[in-house]
Amino acid sequence: MSEPTDIAAIRNVIVIGSGPAGYTAALYTARANLQPLVFGGAIFVGGSLTTTTEVENFPGFREGVDGPVLMENMRAQAERFGAEMIDDDIVSVDLTGAIKTVTDSEGTVHRAKSVIIATGSGYRKLGLPKEEDLSGRGVSWCATCDGFFFRDRDIVVVGGGDTAMEEATFLTRFARSVTIVHRRSTLRASQVMQNRAFTDDKISFLFDSEITELDDKDGKLAGVTVRNTLTEELRHLDVTGLFIAIGHDPRSELFTGQLDLDGEGYLQVQSPSTRTNIPGVFAAGDVVDHTYRQAITAAGSGCQAALDAERYLAALA
Ligand code: FAD
Repeated sequence: MSEPTDIAAIRNVIVIGSGPAGYTAALYTARANLQPLVFGGAIFVGGSLTTTTEVENFPGFREGVDGPVLMENMRAQAERFGAEMIDDDIVSVDLTGAIKTVTDSEGTVHRAKSVIIATGSGYRKLGLPKEEDLSGRGVSWCATCDGFFFRDRDIVVVGGGDTAMEEATFLTRFARSVTIVHRRSTLRASQVMQNRAFTDDKISFLFDSEITELDDKDGKLAGVTVRNTLTEELRHLDVTGLFIAIGHDPRSELFTGQLDLDGEGYLQVQSPSTRTNIPGVFAAGDVVDHTYRQAITAAGSGCQAALDAERYLAALA
């Protein structure tokens, strides 16, 4: 039996994701009169910035802006031009044909001529009690975003790769001291990055060590307990900043087997465009981006994806 064809239900564009990339793609496609349908996720509506407080580096806000407020404004701006929002997860996709299908958590199948993927990536967590609660209150995953708030403070950075060394070195601009806690006896970071960290007077190292507990006072981080994994010795560090730099996981599982992913699971695009390996499917934001991972770069690539989709649809007409 052939599939029933409900022409009215075929959208021009479906956007998956409601972070800066998804909402910007929604805004641009809505203003191009393409009536986008946006799936924002069931529990993570507004994306990563809803988990932080003050955002000081998104242009246009002299005094900074609260993360959730910024995302609410982006959403309202896209809705003003006709973007339709559904706060649900997409649980499966078929992107291969001319008409793409995406299925939501209730089993409803939605169809569109083009799809923009903006599902972001998640910072890996230590899995400690209070870690989530203290996010934005002393615990951070992004030195570029939050380093400025840590002037003259004592900070711990967790991790042993390039990112951890880069974050630690960057943080010395603000911090009084930076202690790198790494669970192994050697670093994974490149020699150049290691040397930079080793020769920095403000940086010290605790090898074969892991953080076992976070202490809080008045709702803010007030110290960490570190365990030496060889001797089992516990020590308390009187720090008020913790930067976790143990990697990211792009949210790309849904697309495995259909879209090209790189070795770390990020969606591959035909740079400098946002085109994936399937015509009509575009990707933007942190699910693509290894390098920059900022709200403004995600928003910028969401704009690019919208323009790429618009041109793709115009060529079909
Ligand atoms: P995200 O914002 O992560 O959004 C991804 C979206 O995809 C979410 O809405 C999610 O619900 C949705 N999604 C995922 N899977 C599905 C699915 N299957 N179905 C439907 N929807 C789905 N950057 C800055 O520039 N300045 C800062 O100060 C700053 N502070 C930060 C603080 C914290 C605590 C964190 C975690 C990040 C911070 N960042 C900051 C980084 C910034 O938030 C990200 O770079 C940016 O949000 C990436 O945007 P994105 O749209 O690609 O993804």
